[in-house]
Amino acid sequence: MIQELIKGIHDCPCGKDHSCPTEAVEIGSGALEKLPQLCAGYEKILLVADQNTYRVGGEAAQQLLSGKLEGKVIYQTGDKPLIPNEEALETLAAAVTDKTQLIVGVGSGVINDLCKQTAFVKDLPYFIVATAPSMDGYTSVGSALILKGMKVTLTARPPKAVVADTRILKTAPLEMIQAGVGDILGKHSCLNDWKLSALINGEYFCQKVYDLVYEAVVRVQQLTEAAVNREEEALGALMEALVAIGFEMSYVGNSRPASGSEHHLSHFFEITGILDDAPYFCHGIDVIYSAVVTAKLREKVLSSQPKPYHHDAAAWEKEIRRLYSTSADEVIKLQKKMGWYDIDGYQNICDKWQKICEVLAEAPTEAQMLEMVRRIGLDYSEFVKLYGQKKIDDAVLYAKDLKDRYTVLWLAYQYC
Ligand SMILES: [Zn+2]
Ligand SMILES: [Zn+2]
Repeated sequence: MIQELIKGIHDCPCGKDHSCPTEAVEIGSGALEKLPQLCAGYEKILLVADQNTYRVGGEAAQQLLSGKLEGKVIYQTGDKPLIPNEEALETLAAAVTDKTQLIVGVGSGVINDLCKQTAFVKDLPYFIVATAPSMDGYTSVGSALILKGMKVTLTARPPKAVVADTRILKTAPLEMIQAGVGDILGKHSCLNDWKLSALINGEYFCQKVYDLVYEAVVRVQQLTEAAVNREEEALGALMEALVAIGFEMSYVGNSRPASGSEHHLSHFFEITGILDDAPYFCHGIDVIYSAVVTAKLREKVLSSQPKPYHHDAAAWEKEIRRLYSTSADEVIKLQKKMGWYDIDGYQNICDKWQKICEVLAEAPTEAQMLEMVRRIGLDYSEFVKLYGQKKIDDAVLYAKDLKDRYTVLWLAYQYC
């Protein structure tokens, strides 16, 4: 399946030629041993890991590559998480020399983003050795970074090869496996947002890509318990789904098939957590909890009628400044550039209301999303306890302002 997806989809009815830049994917028990073979032809390799991923996979990768290593970067952050910020990028950039031919990252989200971004800037190929099936960004084009305190996604370079050894994946912390499942099951929400925006705004939509993502979601839904129980086969299938969704983002050229309102809420909790030095869940866990919130919001919209458009710009700006403090200017600038607040789309919404309701009704209900949360071994009340209802309500109203993407959050804010 994954080997088929590497080839892309040509002559798609949507009019786009779908391709992805990744050339090799090795997922399975013992996959790490394929690394030397994949690295044939490269003599000066820079190995990148952090203290934890070095222990679980980096050291073994180093031994396998032995004489070919030019250098290594092992981030030491103590018991704090590694943050993909300016400082971490500079550390990595400083280790790249004129002779470096390849970057091999060993890790998951943050290591992958740092390597991806550096590979792009330095015009080098890179491979990722995954240490956890924790998120779908392994093979996506964008790198998720925190720059000037803001979460930004920059265009970067996907890995040329992905190696995921299920013997390593099964040693990942439980919450990282839960996060990977959560990131995938949260796609129920973003797929629905994609359809919604295609309907309301005429945004580009590809049924084939939509179906591929949907199939991956259903597969992971079926093996949720097995993955959480660390069964290697299920972890391999989960990893395949995560890698595949990265390809599907490459197919359309952005993260639309994989990120919608649920991701915007999760980014809100992460950004405000960083700004206010407040705790937040790891990405995919925030995503699945947030998908419960957006499911509830869809039900609310479904039970209402569109209201005429009214925007109080001063009140909005006050709220943005309250929530985003030092990053508020960036948020306001983005929305001024987008100009969506200046458009009264009430008539359009009314004209399409019947169809809008049909689309919204396709998404799982709040109760169904809560059941998925439970099967992952998570408890929604933990989410409410950590953030409090007020912060969750703020996210529903203002998380959309972090992004330039239409979702049910906009529909609910403007017309319901
Ligand atoms: Zn297509
Ligand atoms: Zn995600």
